[in-house]
Amino acid sequence: MLAPFTAGWQSNELHPLIIERSEGSYVYDINGNKYLDSLAGLWCTALGGSEPRLVKAATDQLNKLPFYHSFWNRTTRPSLDLAQEILSMFTAREMGKVFFTNSGSEANDSQVKLVWYYNNALGRPNKKKFIARTKAYHGSTLISASLTGLPALHQKFDLPAPFVLHTDCPHYWRYHLPGETEEEFATRLATNLENLILKEGPETIAAFIAEPVMGAGGVIPPPKTYFDKVQAVVKKYDILFIADEVITAFGRLGTMFGSDYYNIKPDLVSLAKALSNAYVPIGATLVSPEISDVIHSQSNKLGSFAHGFTYSGHPVACAVAIEALKIYRERDIPGHVKQIAPKFQDGIRAFADSPIIGEIRGLGMIMGTEFTNNKSPTDLFPAEWGVGAIFGQECQKRGMLVRVAGDAIMMSPTLIMTPGEVDELVSIYGEALKATE
Ligand code: PLP
Repeated sequence: MLAPFTAGWQSNELHPLIIERSEGSYVYDINGNKYLDSLAGLWCTALGGSEPRLVKAATDQLNKLPFYHSFWNRTTRPSLDLAQEILSMFTAREMGKVFFTNSGSEANDSQVKLVWYYNNALGRPNKKKFIARTKAYHGSTLISASLTGLPALHQKFDLPAPFVLHTDCPHYWRYHLPGETEEEFATRLATNLENLILKEGPETIAAFIAEPVMGAGGVIPPPKTYFDKVQAVVKKYDILFIADEVITAFGRLGTMFGSDYYNIKPDLVSLAKALSNAYVPIGATLVSPEISDVIHSQSNKLGSFAHGFTYSGHPVACAVAIEALKIYRERDIPGHVKQIAPKFQDGIRAFADSPIIGEIRGLGMIMGTEFTNNKSPTDLFPAEWGVGAIFGQECQKRGMLVRVAGDAIMMSPTLIMTPGEVDELVSIYGEALKATE
């Protein structure tokens, strides 16, 4: 297998960790070893790895109608019902329509095509550029990798595409100027964004895309007022705001959506991952009523909206997602996160004095740790020491899986963690840290 995001030396000939089954917040490998999965798969199995209601929803749908498409005015009940459910759940602002994809990458690719289609319909063929942010992660297809602001996804792939520009990453600890407050930092970034827009020409910029909290870039919650300032800038220049909620939707921050937490009023939203609790691939692109109206009337003129995938609105994926959304609401998962998150946040932050930790950061049930010397964002350990990798191995030896990216490690466990499981996570983190020091 050519494994995703895997270096040759980690390839499957060299004994990968083979996971065989899952139960709640834990996974088991083929040798029966049990691991607390501190990343919930890939930030996605919010309801854990053994939710019987989702298995039943999939089985029932497989028995009834395993597949039918949603092209040419034919569709299925689950896809219509799921679109309705999503629209009723997203209340940060009114949304108009939902377009289904198979993944977060496809949701973000679709954003670009939808926005271009919209601007072409409005007679603004030059308003086509996208502004994303350094360190953002928006996926790995051609367009979503271009939006991504991580060099590894560009190098050797001839990316990013020329219509994508990147502006500052809102990581205060790493990028603030001496003496600058968080508020001043947020203001400076909004000014830099405005300057970029003016330099390029506002009439050429179609949209700004952002994750409410950056995930794969190292778990980076922006200053609380950052999005207020950024939204004011993009609104001023008639630039659409896309919220990439692929990680932050469905309770991760203690609110149903990240947009609720940061008071974002997006024009478009991307969803995936926890939408189906990751049991079946599905993603979604939400568009505002203003955009869906324009797309609707334009496609009527042209005879069709020529974009879509065989599996857009796959009935099994939609049936599972409908059940997952019911569970998020019935069990008040955001409320559970509000209760459990302080234990998680405080427990991990208690290790902030460690001489090898530069910063611990996070929000709700998502956290990042960065290993640096002298608490400094710039005094990095030599890469060959592999401090992050050592910490990851020490966790694994003790029965916990964490995400390692250089000297940053990330955790975003299930949203059904019990207090006892959080204690276990914190205790393994502490032991692994001691062993790494
Ligand atoms: N957007 C964000 C914020 C993500 O974190 C990810 C994946 O981690 C994606 C998009 C891409 O989703 P997928 O891997 O389903 O294509």
